[in-house]
Amino acid sequence: MLDEEVLDGRANYTLEDMDRHSLFHPLTSIATHMDKGPHIMDRGQGARLRDHSGREFVDCSGGLWCVNIGYGRPEIAEVAKQAILDLNYFHIFGSSSNEATIRLADKVLSLFHERANARHLKRVFFGCSGSDANDTNYKLVRYYANLRGTPEKKKIISRQGGYHGLTAAAARLTGIPSYHKAWDLPTADVIHTSCPHFYRFAEAGEDEETFCNRMIAEIEAIIEREGPDTVGAFIAEPIMGTGGVLLPPKGYFDRLQAVLDRHDILLIADEVITGFGRTGHWFATGLYGLKPDLVTLAKGITSAYFPVSASVVSERIWNVLEKASPEYGPVMHGFTYSGHPVGAAIGLANIAILENEDMVGHAGKVGAHLLAGLRQRLADHPFVGDVRGEGLMIGVEFMADRAKRRPFAPSSNVHRLVAGRAVEHNLMVRALPFIEVISFSPPLCITEAECDQAIERFGAALDSMTPELARLAIA
Ligand code: PLP
Repeated sequence: MLDEEVLDGRANYTLEDMDRHSLFHPLTSIATHMDKGPHIMDRGQGARLRDHSGREFVDCSGGLWCVNIGYGRPEIAEVAKQAILDLNYFHIFGSSSNEATIRLADKVLSLFHERANARHLKRVFFGCSGSDANDTNYKLVRYYANLRGTPEKKKIISRQGGYHGLTAAAARLTGIPSYHKAWDLPTADVIHTSCPHFYRFAEAGEDEETFCNRMIAEIEAIIEREGPDTVGAFIAEPIMGTGGVLLPPKGYFDRLQAVLDRHDILLIADEVITGFGRTGHWFATGLYGLKPDLVTLAKGITSAYFPVSASVVSERIWNVLEKASPEYGPVMHGFTYSGHPVGAAIGLANIAILENEDMVGHAGKVGAHLLAGLRQRLADHPFVGDVRGEGLMIGVEFMADRAKRRPFAPSSNVHRLVAGRAVEHNLMVRALPFIEVISFSPPLCITEAECDQAIERFGAALDSMTPELARLAIA
């Protein structure tokens, strides 16, 4: 609906105006949006985007870390068209099913079994977003506790800097303060332990091993303090994405899993970003030898050609659910679009492209090229502290004083300023909300030449901002 003021000026009513007056944007400052308006995208091809004014960008954000096979694949459009013509929708409640969804569940399990050595994963529950999949997992922790007769064992430990989505339960799990402000979060049933990011949070004199020891000791202390009988699960992104592309310290997950096993605590691996090839491995579960009880998937499962997510359930949980079924009746959880036949057909076609074009292997190789190129280009920059990553998940962390590892004041927003300047240089990267990090997560099909272009544009954008960063470093 247009308000009177807008209607009066209808002749000049642009798409930008229409956006300002009709669209409620997620993760957006209303004040800034009303002032500056939208940046409208029109087309995507491979790793490139074109906006409404005709400018072209290299998209090193991959949308939101999700367009794994790249933009504009005609094969997916064909599959979607045929799937819609065949069966645009039917639900999978109460044992209804459809071929594409059956095949996608089977495919996801075989990928975990064959490419991640995770043969204990046994069933796939579908949803529509990473957040709803984490809400499903949050509920399953409770359901499992109730069904197996340990109804007190429901608290979940998450990590500061962890990002698990923004629906009601997922937002509790998320450990980034800006997502909690004014939403009455966090809540007492989720405990956030320290962020295991060695580069930034190590104390004076700590090496990686002693830092890791401290992280694990803190988790053990939380379990003891809360009581092992009250802690049901631990949730972790194998590589933390939104928190700042934070790689685990060496040995972290082996040690963590031993602690969780000792206390009969489930591990939820949130692979929403790391799944489907982004790290140069099919799943980070395989990369780190994890044995998760639940895995969260979304994004790369369809490369964002359709909203699909999944909770992958281990044998341990499945056996409890199956055994209790006669007594408890149907599992009263699910969504209208769980197992959507069009989404599943797209998921299968997307995985076929990842496999047939060896995009996962390519992500490993081209990711190493991008990481090395960024490291070389930024090596002498006075305000770049660390450049790190795995595959096509790369982070650049800024420091006000890199010798002393003194961070910029959070209010300086340096990384947001740099990401904004990169847009002016026709490059999309993301400024992340936890610490001063910019992420690179392009489509896995990005070429070496496009990576070189991205490095050059990022370097130029950053150089043009050095005087401003120098001022902010003192402030
Ligand atoms: N989990 C992780 C690790 C994510 O990175 C995200 C989104 O970025 C989510 C969950 C939430 O996914 P969605 O935005 O699809 O709800």
